[in-house]
Parts: sequence; structure tokens; C-alpha cells
Amino acid sequence: SHRIMLGPLVAAIDQGTSSTRFLVFNSKTAELLSHHMVEIKQSFPKEGWVEEDPKEILQSVHECMERTCEKLTQLNIDITNIKAIGVTNQRETTLVWDKETGEPLYNAIVWLDLRTQSTVERLINKTPGRNKNHLKHKTGLPISTYFSAVKLRWLMDNVAEVHEAIVSHRAMFGTVDSWLIWCLTGGKSGGVHCTDVTNASRTMLFNIHTMDWDPELCKYFGIPMEILPRVRSSSEIYGLMKICSSWKCGALSGIPISGCLGDQSAALVGQMCFQDGQAKNTYGTGCFLLRNTGAKPVMSDHGLLTTVAYKLGRDKPACYALEGSVAIAGAVVRWLQDNLGIIGSSEELEKLAASVCTSYGCYFVPAFSGLYAPYWEPSARGIICGLTQFTNRSHLAFAALEAVCFQTREILDSMNQDSGIPLTQLQVDGGMTSNRLLMQLQADILCIPVVKPSMPETTALGAAMAAGAAEGVSVWSLNPEDLSEVTSEKFEPQINPEESELRYARWKKAVQKSMNWET
Ligand code: ADP
Repeated sequence: SHRIMLGPLVAAIDQGTSSTRFLVFNSKTAELLSHHMVEIKQSFPKEGWVEEDPKEILQSVHECMERTCEKLTQLNIDITNIKAIGVTNQRETTLVWDKETGEPLYNAIVWLDLRTQSTVERLINKTPGRNKNHLKHKTGLPISTYFSAVKLRWLMDNVAEVHEAIVSHRAMFGTVDSWLIWCLTGGKSGGVHCTDVTNASRTMLFNIHTMDWDPELCKYFGIPMEILPRVRSSSEIYGLMKICSSWKCGALSGIPISGCLGDQSAALVGQMCFQDGQAKNTYGTGCFLLRNTGAKPVMSDHGLLTTVAYKLGRDKPACYALEGSVAIAGAVVRWLQDNLGIIGSSEELEKLAASVCTSYGCYFVPAFSGLYAPYWEPSARGIICGLTQFTNRSHLAFAALEAVCFQTREILDSMNQDSGIPLTQLQVDGGMTSNRLLMQLQADILCIPVVKPSMPETTALGAAMAAGAAEGVSVWSLNPEDLSEVTSEKFEPQINPEESELRYARWKKAVQKSMNWET
């Protein structure tokens, strides 16, 4: 068998809401050499609750690493060429575990979860002028069910094991990145308890100006600071992989974990949006449009979040982003499949919708977790309206795809208003972008071209780049001149803008109905 000549390799763990992946890239060409994906179970124990099992998450990472190592061996690629590993993850999802036993003390509360709605309403009612943006000057975020602090507060108040572990100084809090890095660097025997600035900026306990945990915010939510992970940059050596040699991926032991970015930040890096003004939109479980605003945090007047985009090295400056977050995008596809049973797979959705290519005036606002940007209305609920005797499941499928596009249009409009410089095209990625009808619809509804890279794993690529560029690793250059050209596909708007505006205006009416649901 022939030997393949390769530069140094860099791997990434991509732990998303719906799946986990392990991927290996060539650091000289950014080529994806091998990967493996495992789906993650989500449980919905009560209305509005969304949980995942921390141990299943960890196991899925191990399984992906093992299978990818096997595939590399089959390709005659030496695993010892892997010089660094990056971690990217679903953000905000909240875990607490016992540092002495290494056991999680409750399921992970997923970012979409609504159980904290009443807590959030109570907190907002206590602020002067009932202002949900009361903490925005420090955090960049509105008080919402979305962020970790309220979820952590719920765990402290409702789970006896969490309360006891905190009292006896055995509790560790973390988002998924912290949980994985702690476990993979040794767990209860010396694991590293850390997070990066991008993940920290989604907890509501982090001050995005001082770039550290904020004692006042911790006091506001009643969170003891000793349970928080240490905050590090997005690109530095956090620790070395410790894996039992009896495992098939034992060869990964000793490799530095040197990159860490929340998934949306990683996608921004993977799409090479390093310049002020550059933006990308990722269509996964939810949908997230981030626009780089450079070294300054810009506060939105139109319902967007201000977040840390990345800090690629201990001595490097932080970059900030404006973010429009949509809670439900791909999740609506899963819902049509699992709850209504009108499709058998996500691929089937495209065929069904393409068979009609119109919703016949049906509008579907999937406000399952309330509405995020730009409304931040936790009491909104999903609605389907404009039905007639004629409406069938194909129209519903089309309306679901259109909903994703309309929601993106709303955040793009907010983004353009905040920055004053309209985007002239939209860079996209994420699992849903394999749906070509969705991409065309998106271009039609935005009236600007939509550009999709031919290598779809940009989130993982961003984490790999951060890991490979870390001090002490340095196998990946982040100089724009050295970065390989990305090949991409472009979707041009095809309908006339008046028709697009008309449909968008109807969508806005439907959104209003979803918001005034209970009153
Ligand atoms: P995450 O990072 O949130 O786990 P991914 O980027 O892996 O999400 O994308 C998975 C989501 O994309 C799922 O919700 C799935 O329903 C949706 N999806 C995948 N393929 C398609 C498709 N062809 N059409 C529509 N939706 C799709």
C-alpha cells in the first residue's frame, strides 16, 4: 500500500445540539480527510423542557474519535500526524457535575429549554422599567431563558444533588466545551476545568468588556464563583488528551487540546470572516447570523445580541460580533418528522416542498421556544395560519422552509439597520444548507445572493484552525494571504422583489399573531 504525503493534521470535536462529529483536516490545504458523526438523543420530559444526557454526549465523542481513527488507518494515514485538537460546541447548554466522582448531577439543560420562563419573567419584573435589557451593558444579552445563568439557577433551586454538591464544594459548572475538555484531559484525576471567552460570553455571568466573570452578575443570579471554569482565549493549549490505551483511539493520548469556540464563533472563523463587517449565517437546529464588528462591542438597537466572536491567542485582541439568533430552524424539520410524521427524513422535506413550490398562503411561525431575535418574547407560541380546504402536507413543508428564510430576513434587516451598511451577499453553512430549495428560497426572500462553501463543515474547520494556530502548536497559519481559497456555490435571487416583499409582509402579520397568543 502507498503512503500518502501529508502536512500536519488537526482534528476537531464538533458537539452540536443534534449530533456529535469528529473530523480531521490537513492543516496545509484545509482539506477534510476523514470524519464520523453520531446523532444525539434529546428528551422532552415536560412541555417546553429539552434535555440531553452528558454521558451520552461524552460517549458520542469517544465513538466518533474511534471510528475516525479506524477510517484514517484504512486510508493509510498515520494518526500520529494529528498535532492538535479543537473543541466546538452547542452554546449555553448547562451542566453541573461532581468533581470527585466525575458524575453529572443532572441532565444537560439544552439552550432551547423553556423551564426558566417564569424565573425570567420574575427577574424582568424586578428591574427598573421592566427592562429585559437591564444587564445588556455588561453582557450584551437580554434577560432570557436562552442563556446559562438562569438554567444554572434552576438547577441550584430544584435539584437537591446540585445544591448539596455546591454546599460541600464538589460542584463544577460548565457548558458542553468545559464538560468535554475536563473529561478528556483526565476528569476526576486532574482534568482541566476551563472554557473560552466565546462560550463564557453566553452565560450572562461574563463581562464582555473586562473579559472575565463579573462578581456583580454572579451575585445577581446567586451563583458561587468557585464553581465556574477558568476563562481562557479561544486558541491556546488547555491540556493534553488522556485516553486509556486500551481504547481504539488511545493513539490520541498526549495530543494538546488547543482550540475552543462556541459553534457559531467557530463557523465565523471557519468561513474566514476576520474583517469588520463580514458575516455568516448557520442553519442547524437553530439559525444564527453573526457579523464581525472588530475590536469594539457594538450594542444593537434592533434586538440583536452583542457577543465575543473570538480571541485567537492569549495575547491577541478579542473580536466582537453582532448576532441574530433564531431558536427554531432545523428543529422544525425534526418536528414535522417526529411529531407530525408527515416526512420520513429531512431529505424528504425538500422533495415534498419542491412538488408544490408554494405554501398557498399558509404561514408557519415555529415559535416553539418563544421567539428569539429580534423579539425576545418567551411567551410566543408556534402557529400555522392561512389554511384552506386545499392545504396539504406539501404546502406545510414549504411553509416550514419559508419560515426559516423569513426569520433570517428579520435578523438580516436588524443587522443592516444596526450597522448602516447592508450586506450585499450572505455566506451560509450548517446541516440545513444541503437543502437546495431552502438556499434558493433564501436568496429570493433576501433579494441578495446566498453563497455556500463546497466544504460544509465550516464549524469544525474553525475549531481546527484555532487549535492548529495555538502557541506551541503553530501548524496552521491564520494569515489571510496563507489561507486556502474556498470554492463555493452561489444562489441568485430569482423572484421579483415586490412578490418577496408581499410574502414577507404576510409573515410579519403571522408573527404578531404568535406573540399575542395568550392575551
Ligand atoms: P446542529 O449543529 O444544531 O446539531 P446541524 O448543522 O448538524 O445542526 O444540522 C442539523 C439540522 O439540519 C437538523 O435539525 C436537521 O433536521 C436539519 N437538516 C439536515 N438536512 C436537511 C435537509 N436536507 N433539509 C432540511 N433540513 C435538514
